[in-house]
Amino acid sequence: MSCTFCGGNVKQDKTEYIEKQGNYIVVIKNVPCEKCEQCGEVYFSNEVVQVIEKILDTIQYISSELTVTVIDYANNKVA
Ligand SMILES: [Zn+2]
Repeated sequence: MSCTFCGGNVKQDKTEYIEKQGNYIVVIKNVPCEKCEQCGEVYFSNEVVQVIEKILDTIQYISSELTVTVIDYANNKVA
């Protein structure tokens, strides 16, 4: 696979996925991805995207103050 943006080499890597919802920030660590060596563009497989969505579904975003939740992809219960 090559990068759709710059055509560079894409290799297996891990990244942090950050989702912001109002005052709520969710950080998922160690998310498997493919990353362009040239421009740094990150690609997620459909399977990984589904797991991320499940993780986000289990989290309640209702908060009046800024809340940051950090989850490790490898240790989450829905994977
Ligand atoms: Zn690229």
